[in-house]
Amino acid sequence: MAEDPQIPLISFRPSEDPPWFTAGKNTPATHIRNVRKGLHPLGFALLGKAGARCGNCENLYRRLWIRGYIKCRKTIATHGPGTDVRKKWAACEHWKEAQPQ
Ligand code: SF4
Repeated sequence: MAEDPQIPLISFRPSEDPPWFTAGKNTPATHIRNVRKGLHPLGFALLGKAGARCGNCENLYRRLWIRGYIKCRKTIATHGPGTDVRKKWAACEHWKEAQPQ
């Protein structure tokens, strides 16, 4: 089939995720969708402050059920991966510097 010169060719490539976010086969679809919309995986706006990560935020805590799960105080913690947090994620608008213990 010949190409129609009136129809421009558009190339699609998968969106490039930021270096602080790695989508794997178990990554919740909501996290991927939020990051590709330019948001934090939990849906908050990104803070954009150098060095600020979920891992050094006051709102991060470990919730013990059968195992320990890393969660954020700014969301309702469910029993599912949709509210799990990764320490390497870039900080969101609610970031507050963690105080030394
Ligand atoms: S408040 Fe934001 S930066 Fe802090 S742990 Fe929660 S999602 Fe991460």
